[in-house]
Amino acid sequence: MPGVSLWRGLLGLEHTAIENVTKDPDGSLVFHVRPMARRQGRCGRCRRRCPRYDAGSSRRRWRTLDHGIAMAFLEADAPRVRCPAHGVVVAHVPWAAHGAGHTHTFDQQAAWLVVRTSKTAVTELMRIAWRTVGAIVDRVWTRIQAEHGGPAGDQLEGLRRIGIDEISYRRGQLYLTVVVDHDSGHLVWAEPGRDRDTLRRFFDDLGVERSSLITHVSADQAGWISHVVTERCPTAIQCADPFHVIKWANQALGNVRARAWRTARAGGATHKNGIEHGRQRRDSTGAARELRDARHALWKNPEDLTCRQQQRLDWIAATHPELWEAYRLKEGLRLLLRMRGRPGLDALDEWLAWATHSGVPEMTHLAARITAIRERVEATLTHGLSNALVESVNTKIRLLTRIAFGFHSPQPLIALAMLSRGPYRPALPSRA
Ligand SMILES: [Zn+2]
Repeated sequence: MPGVSLWRGLLGLEHTAIENVTKDPDGSLVFHVRPMARRQGRCGRCRRRCPRYDAGSSRRRWRTLDHGIAMAFLEADAPRVRCPAHGVVVAHVPWAAHGAGHTHTFDQQAAWLVVRTSKTAVTELMRIAWRTVGAIVDRVWTRIQAEHGGPAGDQLEGLRRIGIDEISYRRGQLYLTVVVDHDSGHLVWAEPGRDRDTLRRFFDDLGVERSSLITHVSADQAGWISHVVTERCPTAIQCADPFHVIKWANQALGNVRARAWRTARAGGATHKNGIEHGRQRRDSTGAARELRDARHALWKNPEDLTCRQQQRLDWIAATHPELWEAYRLKEGLRLLLRMRGRPGLDALDEWLAWATHSGVPEMTHLAARITAIRERVEATLTHGLSNALVESVNTKIRLLTRIAFGFHSPQPLIALAMLSRGPYRPALPSRA
């Protein structure tokens, strides 16, 4: 057929013969293909050459990248082979992963988009459901990981300083344990679960020799993490994860704000607004309303505040000294956790004295919590673990858990997180 080599180039196909090109009534292009002789008769799972079993049920189709405005498909026979290891399986095809309904080029482009654009951009441009995106990122990550030696492969090489964390998803019903490399900022390992056995699997993948090279481990104060770290890397220095310490401070600040809000409402800053669940509904007004709406302004880093949020903070500074004091303590803690060495340690002393004697009960309690893990906070300040890096990885993974809500299982979420924050980003087809 004329033009076959042109089509093969356009499709990015290797080891594949094009027999014919047809058009469906709906305008879709259909490329009738077969694997080249050397790629025929192989197990779809291990690619070992195997005896043919039968012709399979019928012709199969794989969606590939659109051509112009038309959807395009590859169509081929799907014979089965009998593999000594995997039994009767559909034979390998060079253009797609085993069991996939999309070609490698399609998968690659979808994965490239998903780590760079929005959910709707991917699903609308590629004309696929979000669940399909989940299956695609899972396949692409599995393939990239295999090229780099599997779960125990290259991404675990050279680790010295790591952060271990748990991430909740599905509204806190399920958890992932994640490991971040402090030196590169990459996510290097993630698995479902949050317990000792899950974390032991990480150290199994890492192996005894590479575990012995770990010098620092940062984590929140979960006992199961420190137990396993002590067991597998006894010489590593355990540090407090600044991200979690700041989270505590934000919680304490939130409690002060809620208390001020309740006080304002009790003082009459409400108005009646109908009946709800058989009770009088009272909406916040005046100061109570300002305090209700100030939540984000108090949490945000000052450099990210909008003009309106800055005005809310100014108002709090002028009218609510206790809440303002709590805010300044939170910001002070955040800044001191960026400091290093002696100045950082001195600042920690000063801060603990300030918080303890602030007269704000929530902040005094926070000071006591931090004092209880003081040694680990000091280790963080002494050894200079960059919080900015971990915080940004953490924030981004938490965003992904929301995006991944529509996926079936944790596997696509892990794949999405590894492709977005891991050391190997997906490449566009035929552009290494
Ligand atoms: Zn096999």
